[in-house]
Amino acid sequence: MPYCRMCGSGTVVVHISYAKLYLCQKCFLEFYVKRVKRTVEEFKMFREDDVVGVAVSGGKDSAALLHSLHNAFPKLELKALHLNLGIPEYSEHCESKVKTLTKILDIELQTYDIRKELGLTIEDFKKTKFKRKICSVCGTIKRHIFEEMAKRAQVRVLATGHNLDDVTSVMLNTFLNGQWTQLTRIKPILPPLTEGMAYKVKPLIRSPENENLLYCLYGELPIRTIGCPNSDTAGIKKYAKMLEKFSEEDPNFKHLLLNRFLELIPLMEEKFPKPTITRCRICNFPSSNEVCAYCKRISLVKGYQTRNNIVK
Ligand SMILES: [Zn+2]
Ligand SMILES: [Zn+2]
Repeated sequence: MPYCRMCGSGTVVVHISYAKLYLCQKCFLEFYVKRVKRTVEEFKMFREDDVVGVAVSGGKDSAALLHSLHNAFPKLELKALHLNLGIPEYSEHCESKVKTLTKILDIELQTYDIRKELGLTIEDFKKTKFKRKICSVCGTIKRHIFEEMAKRAQVRVLATGHNLDDVTSVMLNTFLNGQWTQLTRIKPILPPLTEGMAYKVKPLIRSPENENLLYCLYGELPIRTIGCPNSDTAGIKKYAKMLEKFSEEDPNFKHLLLNRFLELIPLMEEKFPKPTITRCRICNFPSSNEVCAYCKRISLVKGYQTRNNIVK
């Protein structure tokens, strides 16, 4: 067994194949935090005197994100933002993990419970035409509510746990499907569509998914141990599998792909101008339609509840 490349100890636990590195537990945790710090600085995601909101789900990626940001920038003020979607058992489980994590780190936690705030849950969409598209509805709702939570928490920047695998598979998907405008939205730092909204940043864009899990395991972070019962990511998984195949040939493949896409995006932005953005007549959020996708979906459930005299 090789020795740790950083400290020379013989208790190597991780082999980082793309960097040809063997690391012990302590040095892996340091290596991970350093990369997060470098990524934030590389893309100028925020300054150390900023207030940064971190979307935390209870899963490995966002737990690793919150913990590593806390370690990389000890002076930075972080606020953990959690959305409870009211999925039976699963949502309570996730919220309890988030509570434990933020307690350990002594970070303020703000939770948005859609049952209390909106009188509905993600489960209600199973009675609508979106019943086979719960994941996509969930995505639309999450994006909208996190904007609202960022506003409430008065943070200038909202950090999310999108990792290297997520980002490269979505990039490949949009690329192969010719969704050029969507491709340009997958940037490490996304400026707000209108004034008063938060910058979205992805500090884990260079962190592979399996390393986020290892960071949580070696750092003994509380993370969810059950999966979402509604999860249906078959489409994206197809691209993730393709990337795995290429990575077997070249462990650096995802990193290379990310770098090439990052060079391509500014050219795409020039070629495909942004669609005109107006405001949603119901919620006043930026939207390309008169009523935004979020309000359309919420009113669908509300309509069902009214017709059936359901009060929540
Ligand atoms: Zn070491
Ligand atoms: Zn709206």
